[in-house]
Amino acid sequence: MGIRLKILLILGLALLATLASNSWLYLQDQKARQLQQAQQQHQDISGLLGTILAHGVAAGDEQTLQQLLDDLMTKKDIIYLKITNDEKGFMAERGDADTQDGYLSEHPLHYKNRLIGYFTLGTKYRTLPNDPLSWLNGLPLKQAGIILLITLGEFIALSYFIVRPLRSMVKSVRTSAQQAYNHVEEIPYTSDDEFGLVALEFNRMSQKLNETNQQLKLKVDAADRKLLKTNKRLVEQSVELTRINEELHTLSITDALTNVYNRRYFDDQLSNEVEVTNRYGEPTSLLLIDLDHFKIINDVYGHYAGDIVLQKVAQTLRANIRKTDLLCRVGGEEFAVICKHTGKENAINLSEKLRQSIEKLEIQLDQETIRLTTSIGITTIPDTDKAISKDYFYLCADRALYQSKASGRNRVTHSHHINLEAIRLITDTVV
Ligand code: GH3
Ligand code: MG
Ligand code: MG
Repeated sequence: MGIRLKILLILGLALLATLASNSWLYLQDQKARQLQQAQQQHQDISGLLGTILAHGVAAGDEQTLQQLLDDLMTKKDIIYLKITNDEKGFMAERGDADTQDGYLSEHPLHYKNRLIGYFTLGTKYRTLPNDPLSWLNGLPLKQAGIILLITLGEFIALSYFIVRPLRSMVKSVRTSAQQAYNHVEEIPYTSDDEFGLVALEFNRMSQKLNETNQQLKLKVDAADRKLLKTNKRLVEQSVELTRINEELHTLSITDALTNVYNRRYFDDQLSNEVEVTNRYGEPTSLLLIDLDHFKIINDVYGHYAGDIVLQKVAQTLRANIRKTDLLCRVGGEEFAVICKHTGKENAINLSEKLRQSIEKLEIQLDQETIRLTTSIGITTIPDTDKAISKDYFYLCADRALYQSKASGRNRVTHSHHINLEAIRLITDTVV
């Protein structure tokens, strides 16, 4: 139940109680006044009757007295009359002495200053009802209207002075709650009553809270900015670390002199490719490239020149292979190319192309032009139904290379063209 309805109820009940009690008090007052009036009227009538009746009694004619009483009984407010002689002997009587709303009194009758009898007079007087709410029955429309107007007026006044400030307080607190108290609303109520004092204190509190909130927000913002900065630095460091790691990884798989993949990477990749071929049957070829009489180049032009030759050879080889082919330096003057998805014919063609490119290579060093040749051994898997090992794969290429060397160098040999028995013999020889 809202406060407005409560006020309306209290006002209505208070008004009803006030009206009822006022009405009761008014009735009591009216009753007393009426009684007084009735007594006065009774007194007046009895005085008047005293004179009239004294003459009748003095005459002693009871019949006349009876007629007189009959006449008097017709008069308004007279309800009982009785006449007795001076010794209280009955003379005449009219009306009912037991009436509830009558007022009875006995009076002496004098005639020429002598007591000649008595008369009892009963007059009527109206009593007012005792029910304090009886006024409601006769409540005139105008009065009801006035009551309603007063109630309405008081209701409006109370609404203005009590409900309005309360509502504005509730609204402010509710709005603040909706904003999770990040900003506490002030109560827009300026009055010097108790509500005004509460609003003033509340507004002071709001101001303090808002200031504290603001300071906290500034601190949080500053901490956020610092955190962002730190995060940014961490991200940068992480990026740098990733870059360094990648660089380290590249270095760990790269040959420092020729910048092609090193032996370690070659071993890893060879294992992978053998596995892939064993599982899916996709052909893979391996080329082992050994420079012919490289020792002589070192001996004639020096070790430094030999290094430059190795670099130029690596560049030339790289320029002639596909991106998917892996060029590695597997020994001092030995290179290998792992050719994925490459069958025997393609591998032989590529090897021939590489051999010719090295044969045509002219390396200018000081005034000298260095030329060289290379021997290549090739092998291709799968060549049997059985799964083969990485070592066997390498050995086949190595034996083919050996065959190229043994056949006079500057040539290409595929392991499939070598007699198996011969390979075994060569192996025995080499080992
Ligand atoms: P073959 O035709 O039989 O292969 O003869 P070869 O001289 O090339 O073979 P050998 O194995 O006898 O000699 C290889 C030479 O390669 C020996 C070595 O000094 C040289 N060598 C190995 N690594 C490097 C290197 O990093 N730099 C230089 N400059 N020379 C190297
Ligand atoms: Mg060698
Ligand atoms: Mg050699």
